[in-house]
Amino acid sequence: MKIILANPRGFCAGVNMAIETVDEALKIVGTPLYVYHEIVHNRHVVESFKKEGVVFVDSIEEVPSDSTVIFSAHGVSPEVREAAKARNCTMIDATCPLVTKVHMEAIRYAKQGYKLLLVGHAGHDEVVGTVGEAPDAFSIVESPDDVEKLPFGEDDQDQLVYLTQTTLSMDDANVIIDAIKRRYPGIKQPPSEDICYATTNRQLAVRALAEEANLVLVVGSKNSSNSVRLTEISENAGTSAYLVDDVSEIDHVWFDGVKSVLITAGASAPEHLVEEIVKELIEKYEGVVDESHIVEEDVHFNLPRSLRVLRESCNGGASGNGSCGCG
Ligand code: SF4
Repeated sequence: MKIILANPRGFCAGVNMAIETVDEALKIVGTPLYVYHEIVHNRHVVESFKKEGVVFVDSIEEVPSDSTVIFSAHGVSPEVREAAKARNCTMIDATCPLVTKVHMEAIRYAKQGYKLLLVGHAGHDEVVGTVGEAPDAFSIVESPDDVEKLPFGEDDQDQLVYLTQTTLSMDDANVIIDAIKRRYPGIKQPPSEDICYATTNRQLAVRALAEEANLVLVVGSKNSSNSVRLTEISENAGTSAYLVDDVSEIDHVWFDGVKSVLITAGASAPEHLVEEIVKELIEKYEGVVDESHIVEEDVHFNLPRSLRVLRESCNGGASGNGSCGCG
């Protein structure tokens, strides 16, 4: 069986930065270390940090006063930052810079009096954080049907702008954006694309390669928006796709008659999970690996400034004897 490995796949620059932030913070402040929401949407990443003593919370009320709290790659609303400040927490912001960019756009347009349409999934951590920057100005648009229900009329269109969640399917987003533009031709669009480079590139790779395969495996967690989108893109291209957290979730019935399988991974899925699946398929089906490069990536984000400041002020780290390795 042919095993096509999609490139790019797996960790993006934002996820790398967020995971390294938790690693570094563990060295500097030790445990307990609090992280608001899953640092990235991947079960294996979260479980492995839990084993190291990281406590994941869904409310700042769960974080004791004077503790250190990290905000996840998906970003948080100002309300969350204020709540952490009120508890005198040390805050480390691991929000992906590409999510922060959308927050900045929201703040700027809201200040200029615009009403904002956010194309995205209500309830997703990123959407909750972005809307929190200007709650009175935002309407969330999840589908073309939602566009019809918007309360704005033709006269309001000059004061409307749309933004998008960073991890949407480009195709789905375009269908919704087209519906928005049809109803409000005068709407302002963001200065640059909000769907991020990593989401775009992983989708391009699957779209280019799915037709070569009889089956697509997407490695990622069920709550990872960009991973779910990869399965949808494959299905839309006519190739069955399954989203699996790891090798244990594979059902070998899927492989009946399969001569070629495409494997990709969402932006928050570690590469070792892909390797374990590949190893199993090589052993079971005499798989032959073909790395297919569709887009090359060379993006890197610096660690958060708040972490660098903490590291500089660190007096020997968690152990207090200089053995923490942070300096
Ligand atoms: S998927 Fe995109 S927006 Fe999300 S963390 Fe990665 S680079 Fe940032």
